[in-house]
Amino acid sequence: MKRILVLLTGGTITMVRNHKSGALRPADVDTFKAFVPEMFAGDMEVEMLPFTPLIDSSDISPANWAKMANAIADNYNRYDGFVVLHGTDTMSYSASALSFMLENIAKPVVFTGSQLPVGVLRSDAKENLLAAIEIAAATSPDGKPMVPEVTICFEDSLFRANRTTKKNAERFEAFDSYNYPALAKIGIHIQFRTSLIRYPKSYHEPLFLHTPTSTDVAILKLFPGINEAVVRAVLATPHLQGVVLETYGSGNAPSAHWLYQALRQATDSGILIVNKTQCSTGSVDMGQYEVARNLLKAGVISGYDITTEALLTKMMVLLAQFPGDLERVRHLLSRSICGEMTVG
Ligand code: ASP
Repeated sequence: MKRILVLLTGGTITMVRNHKSGALRPADVDTFKAFVPEMFAGDMEVEMLPFTPLIDSSDISPANWAKMANAIADNYNRYDGFVVLHGTDTMSYSASALSFMLENIAKPVVFTGSQLPVGVLRSDAKENLLAAIEIAAATSPDGKPMVPEVTICFEDSLFRANRTTKKNAERFEAFDSYNYPALAKIGIHIQFRTSLIRYPKSYHEPLFLHTPTSTDVAILKLFPGINEAVVRAVLATPHLQGVVLETYGSGNAPSAHWLYQALRQATDSGILIVNKTQCSTGSVDMGQYEVARNLLKAGVISGYDITTEALLTKMMVLLAQFPGDLERVRHLLSRSICGEMTVG
């Protein structure tokens, strides 16, 4: 019998409406379980691990990522798969962070949540949760886990976590993975696309945890008319180590000399700057236009087709993992370490 551990961190999926005030508040575990009795009715053993307090995911911090990663590591040998119930607002950040924190993961870690609270009649909570549990327990014909990576299960799709972005605040289809196809489609049957799933080379490697993170990072989004003082202020942030530079199209930026100079000074002082396009789909290519070549000359690294959520969390984990080893971090930022980008 498969054993699944469900971590409850909070978010709309864990909330019920107060009948008097109408406000949403986190349910206690027993109330939550009572809304979804089906989760214990399948042919697997499901246990819940509630975090206290349950929080809105807008309040998630790197300390919460570490708590989730530690809970998975502490229970790694006792369960076949893990489901993380999480608010949708920052789910892509948390799930991406965990994909970098859990090195050598060889069991499913499936994040899910819902757009409507569990207690609401039309809620998507039940179907998302039950699909996530089924996916966490699914095995291939050889008995190995079907999806041994960190994923997000939402509505009718299963995505690689570090490829996702929350795209919709209104519809049930809240997430997308613009640059990598879904790992499974969820309908009457769950159709796994095994050629797209990452399988570990060996199932015997120990799980390595990388829970410390550096928050000395920033996102700098370019826009027509951006002024020098704004750019210099961001780059002059005390202790800054890494910057996600959100550029146009295939990785282009204004050709203003001051911009090139400011970026060059920052990279010369040891700040790692990675080029991430503002487009949802497609990749950075800094060899294509003159305006992008300037960025290359300024020492900016290509982020290829990575998401902002994955790039930021990757930087945060790597900067803490290799403090002072800029060359190592630069090298790892330029390549895919767990399927988060398509290089080349
Ligand atoms: N604000 C909620 C959260 O992210 C939204 C949700 O769960 O859908 O926790």
